[in-house]
Amino acid sequence: MKETLRREINIHRKVLLVDDEPINRQILKVILSNEYEVIQAENGEEALQKIAENQNTISLILLDLLMPKMDGYQLLQKIQETEEYRKIPVIVVTVDKEAEVKCLSLGATDFMPKPYEDPKVIVARCKKAIQLAEDRILINENERDSLTGLYTRLFFLQYARLHDRFCHSMLMDAVVINVNRFRLVNNLYGSAYGDKILRTIADVIRQFLENTDGIACRCDSDTFYIYCPHILDHGAFASEFISRFEKIIDNSRITLRLGIYDSVDRSLSIEQRLDMAKNACLRLKNTYTSGYSLYDSQLHEKELFNEKLILEMDRALAEKHFRVYFQPKYSITGDTPKMVSAEALIRWIHPEFGIISPGIFISLFEENGLLQKLDHYVWNETAAQIRDWKDRLGKYVPVSVNVSRTDIYDTNLTGRIESIIRDHGLAPADMYLEITESAYTDNTKQIVETVDKLRQLEFKIEMDDFGSGYSSLSMLSNLPIDVLKLDMQFIKNITRSRKDYNLLLIMMQIAEFLKVPTVAEGVETKEQYDMLKKAGCDIIQGYYFSKPLPAEEFEKLLIKES
Ligand code: C2E
Ligand code: MG
Ligand code: MG
Repeated sequence: MKETLRREINIHRKVLLVDDEPINRQILKVILSNEYEVIQAENGEEALQKIAENQNTISLILLDLLMPKMDGYQLLQKIQETEEYRKIPVIVVTVDKEAEVKCLSLGATDFMPKPYEDPKVIVARCKKAIQLAEDRILINENERDSLTGLYTRLFFLQYARLHDRFCHSMLMDAVVINVNRFRLVNNLYGSAYGDKILRTIADVIRQFLENTDGIACRCDSDTFYIYCPHILDHGAFASEFISRFEKIIDNSRITLRLGIYDSVDRSLSIEQRLDMAKNACLRLKNTYTSGYSLYDSQLHEKELFNEKLILEMDRALAEKHFRVYFQPKYSITGDTPKMVSAEALIRWIHPEFGIISPGIFISLFEENGLLQKLDHYVWNETAAQIRDWKDRLGKYVPVSVNVSRTDIYDTNLTGRIESIIRDHGLAPADMYLEITESAYTDNTKQIVETVDKLRQLEFKIEMDDFGSGYSSLSMLSNLPIDVLKLDMQFIKNITRSRKDYNLLLIMMQIAEFLKVPTVAEGVETKEQYDMLKKAGCDIIQGYYFSKPLPAEEFEKLLIKES
């Protein structure tokens, strides 16, 4: 790529010869004119004029030192003073060995002795000087981000590696900075304002890195990387950074997030270290205020694990690694407890991690929009299992399945459940539906409509985890439900805490008022059982009777109990 560029530029290259002796200029012209377009000046002043006239098209200056009006030294100085001219390489043509040091300090690139050497050597020297200068320009252009003046990502990474090589014992931090919802900011305020924000961030970064060994780049759009010596107080650093930024931008809607991976592990690649800072930064993605987050390896492991579960879900469904377990529910209103139904509870039999309980993946799948798919699978599997028990054993109990909040938003929920029941030749009374209390409080109107429809079809609705949400009494009295399942947390302490026992009694009264039976789940001990029975609870589910069981085991219970 560089080579092609160089060859393309070759066509138009100009060399400026600056010498007061016409004969010297003539000799050089003859030597160079095969390769270059040669222009001439007989002193410094004229040379400056020629440089200005040829606006950025002079590729090399061959400069004599001793000339009238403005000599070579003065010209070199002038060239150094002007940003645009500084890029032009200058070869000083001199007999004076002593002058070399002075010329180098004034910015000369190379020297050529007088009298002139072999023409081939002269051409080669010129070529080399031009090549080096052009490479430098190319590097400069790619090294810096034109908007902010910070390094570009590629150069940043290389300099970071270089830093590591020479300062291998220095503790370093990796920092990622990002503007919250930058795309929106750009759309709202225009890209010029967006650019101003980015330049301001770069300025603040530069202030921080002043007098340190740190480097920074703009990676893409609104993401900045910093690689710097270990920051002792990250909180102070972040708040100082943010306050400097805010002072300039002065718009409370523009906020920053900083992710810091501190004291980096050098066995990781520089990209990996930045990924960790990015990971910390990502954790603040949905925040509306400025802030920072430190990379936490345990949290990261957990995130990786979660990511793996998300990626593997589809395959696990296809390969039936998800298994429905059944936990019996016992009616305790008679003399002896009697199994009357069961709850379907999902387990992931993972080839690598063993049995994973739903506590690990349900909310994860819910957040990622995958839970519905899993629920449909469970409903289908449960219906198929009931069908199988009916056919093979002639025995079964109704099984309740969990309906999650996201299922409620499905406008075809009723049709879906109905068709599952129909496809397996079952009746709605065979499969109860458990809906968590928080779903009712989240979206009361929609859930009341959905549940009404399901009840018209004769499905039984159990309100799960009752007492964990915030249902008001007035709301409760209007809710269409058939059973109240008391939240496990209350049951846990009824034998130890008077307050919890009193709460239980209140809930029993609510159930009585609503004219619905109660199910207590999480019952583990005889004392709990006795207290619940005394309080008038109808049904009990818990380890006291049985843990959730795989279908084969539950089947034995079914045969024994009924
Ligand atoms: P949940 O619906 O309230 O289910 C009751 C949970 O209590 C189950 O946990 C059950 O194993 C546990 N449990 C039952 N008896 C006892 C006991 O005596 N002591 C203790 N400590 N725990 C007991 P599990 O199976 O881990 O499920 C947790 C939650 O995950 C469920 O709470 C439910 O909200 C959700 N879940 C399970 N399967 C599904 C499913 O297929 N779909 C959906 N959407 N959620 C599910
Ligand atoms: Mg449940
Ligand atoms: Mg529950």
